[in-house]
Amino acid sequence: MTDNKTVRTRMAPSPTGEYHVGHIATLLKNYAFAKKHGGKFVLRIEDTDRVRYTEGAVDKILQVIRDYGLDWDEGPDKGGPFAPYTQSERLDIYQEKAQELIKKNQAYYCFCSKERLEEVRDQQRANKQPPKYDRHCLNLSQKDVETKLAAGESFVIRLRVPDDKQIKFTDLLRGEITVNSNEVDDQVLVKSDGFPTYHLAVVTDDHLMKISHILRGEEWISSTPKHALLYQAFGWQPPIYAHIPVFLNPDGKGKMSKRKGTVSAQSFLDQGYLPEAMLNFFMILGWAPDDQREILSLDEYVGEFDPENISTKSVVFDFKKLRWMNGVYIRKLNFSQLKQRIKPFLPNDFPKEKLDLILPLVQERLETLAQLEELTQFFYRDIELDRDTLLKKTDQETVLEQLDKTQESLSSLTKWSVESVEKAIRSLQEDNNWEKGQYFMMLRLAVTGRKISPPLFETIHALGLEITRERLAKAHQLVA
Ligand code: GLU
Repeated sequence: MTDNKTVRTRMAPSPTGEYHVGHIATLLKNYAFAKKHGGKFVLRIEDTDRVRYTEGAVDKILQVIRDYGLDWDEGPDKGGPFAPYTQSERLDIYQEKAQELIKKNQAYYCFCSKERLEEVRDQQRANKQPPKYDRHCLNLSQKDVETKLAAGESFVIRLRVPDDKQIKFTDLLRGEITVNSNEVDDQVLVKSDGFPTYHLAVVTDDHLMKISHILRGEEWISSTPKHALLYQAFGWQPPIYAHIPVFLNPDGKGKMSKRKGTVSAQSFLDQGYLPEAMLNFFMILGWAPDDQREILSLDEYVGEFDPENISTKSVVFDFKKLRWMNGVYIRKLNFSQLKQRIKPFLPNDFPKEKLDLILPLVQERLETLAQLEELTQFFYRDIELDRDTLLKKTDQETVLEQLDKTQESLSSLTKWSVESVEKAIRSLQEDNNWEKGQYFMMLRLAVTGRKISPPLFETIHALGLEITRERLAKAHQLVA
């Protein structure tokens, strides 16, 4: 599939706003494919759309890619043999290429006004025809063109699309795709502001940067015939494509969109998803290694990834699976790694001196780092108790006795450790013949306010004697 050519892949973000999780998922594939074949992965900034250009977006994109643990071999900040890697710094190149096509009679100047183009489109719509430029300027004489240019008339440059030709390109997921050129518009290559369109810039750069394989979102597949025509017009060898299916919203309806929840790559990190878990999640959405295992490291993925095995079906962005995967990765962290990673998620009122006691108690149950607050707040914030729940399994007299005796026994401990707490509580239960399930649950409720908490003795130990005493006393007051 790769013959002897060096594999060079690329990702070409447009700085028009937040970087989408789908972009990181596609980037990962380009990265892995290049690494697998000992090639190079290029990052190029496609900032020729000046209307949608967002200040500061480039830096954020570079940062978020790195925060996901990925990197590039050549790019705007690193340079490389085909620098510059930012399209707005390559405008001369596109001008030159557009002129080359004009000279070859593969492209032409178009002086049509916006109003005229709109009229043509309205007419086509009324006739139920697909919108297409009517080639009004295709046969302007050389002299007409020169006069108009000299008069400073506004113009664009369009590709001369051949009539009724079969356009072919290879898609690794779908095989050879053929489109008739009659379905393709005489697309604009250079806009009236002198900037190239995406089509001209992307083809020029992919060629000059020797990109061998383009793995990109399926939403670009309708542009590919236009690109194939451009390669032909220039007489260049086209790359091999793989159009990757887009993510569907968690409810399975439609392309994953902002309207239905968060999509920005950064927001997932902000919620405490680990980048390595996110990457693993992207790996197995729509692709699986031969043995179908789901947990893969980046190195393993690089070794096994083959774009030809990507499913052409769109996959649902399955949050349940993502949370499970993230939990697996959180549990894999050793204590000092977890401590480091959790720092940005520590609530202000978290008792830092108790971090070493509390964190191991919740590691098992964390599915995101941001859940720390929810799972641990009873350790350092007031809890709410419910009298009926405390009394659920037995009578008032027994509960009061249990609270009193526990209070007394814990207060008299000479050493405060998990073992001593456990011993005291187990002895009380046995000596008094209390029903174990009832007594332990009542105690758990009294000291945590919750039916579900980390193990009881560890929890009481981490709470400390003082808070435990206060809570037992409060429960006593409520029940009495
Ligand atoms: N600049 C395009 C984007 O924003 C690149 C599309 C492509 O990969 O060709 O995604």
